[in-house]
Amino acid sequence: MLDNLEPLFPQFADSREPLVIAGPCSAETEEQTLSTARQLAENGIKIFRAGIWKPRTKPGGFEGVGKPGLEWLKKVKEETGMLTSCEVANRTHVQDAVEAGVDMLWIGARTSANPFAMQEIADTLQELKVDIPVLVKNPVNPDLELWIGALQRLYNAGIRRLGAIHRGFSVYGKHLYRNVPQWHIPIELRLRFPNLPIIVDPSHIGGKRELIAPLSQQAYDMGFNGLIIESHCSPDEAWSDAAQQLTPEVLNFVLHTLVIREDKETTENLSLLRQQIDRIDSDLMEILAKRFEVAREIGRYKKLHRMPVVQATRYNDVIKSRVNTGTAMQMDKEFLKTILLAIHDESVRQQIEIINDRDR
Ligand code: PEP
Ligand code: MN
Repeated sequence: MLDNLEPLFPQFADSREPLVIAGPCSAETEEQTLSTARQLAENGIKIFRAGIWKPRTKPGGFEGVGKPGLEWLKKVKEETGMLTSCEVANRTHVQDAVEAGVDMLWIGARTSANPFAMQEIADTLQELKVDIPVLVKNPVNPDLELWIGALQRLYNAGIRRLGAIHRGFSVYGKHLYRNVPQWHIPIELRLRFPNLPIIVDPSHIGGKRELIAPLSQQAYDMGFNGLIIESHCSPDEAWSDAAQQLTPEVLNFVLHTLVIREDKETTENLSLLRQQIDRIDSDLMEILAKRFEVAREIGRYKKLHRMPVVQATRYNDVIKSRVNTGTAMQMDKEFLKTILLAIHDESVRQQIEIINDRDR
């Protein structure tokens, strides 16, 4: 599975620098596309992105300029020498983009979640017999198998220059991130397919400008292979995703602040620190196991007294007080909520098991 991958771009294969793809969320006008592209090229960007067809949550939004925008991408290439890329979601998009000479395609998060659409795209590429790099964004929902399935459909259709884009996952409600990163998912993808390049999309994870730099640094620190970042000549006026786009100049500044880590072997100090982490993790497991033991005891009590498992007021108080304690210890509020909810859900699950089991 995904065994014989080839470099996305042979011309950059020897570079020690991660791959950077940048450009507006959407191509809006010829002027905006070319002006953004010129500025990005001046700032050293080599691969340009622009959405030509935009999948919007609700009807009535800007759904992309469509086919005419492909002519602007041709001009970007001619004028600046940058490689170009756009999102494709169906057979016509693929045919039009390939015919227009677009250098790389990406599959959006709503499309990679749809096996019918993925198969249609894979079949079209196979019929066209084009050797083009394709990047697959993670599906909107945190489903690693669905992400892998989308990649496999393209691989089975003969696409060898294949990569993944991590753009975070949708969750209900308000969060610090627009799409929560859940880094363990792309990390697991990396472990399963070590040769598959993974590009991080801090724009769609963060949803706001100020998160681009820290998320990009996190991506480099975790050893991912590159970044795809939205950049617009006048971000505030963008027709889509205005809050998360950077000017090419600011993007250049951000890229220069990032530290690219060397891929060195473990040093002695690092292995001592790792031993410490191993011990702490084992303590954590023991404490968690103890907590669930007590939760089960409470379950037995509730069963005996015919009490409901979840008491909303108690639940809110518990989460609130722990979040306060944790934030005072310099931990992130969203992170605390996530783990506390997971622990609470598991306690409830165990208590329900007890209540439904006549023998306990
Ligand atoms: C995009 O890259 O502009 C886009 C629509 O992203 P996603 O599919 O990740 O939402
Ligand atoms: Mn966007």
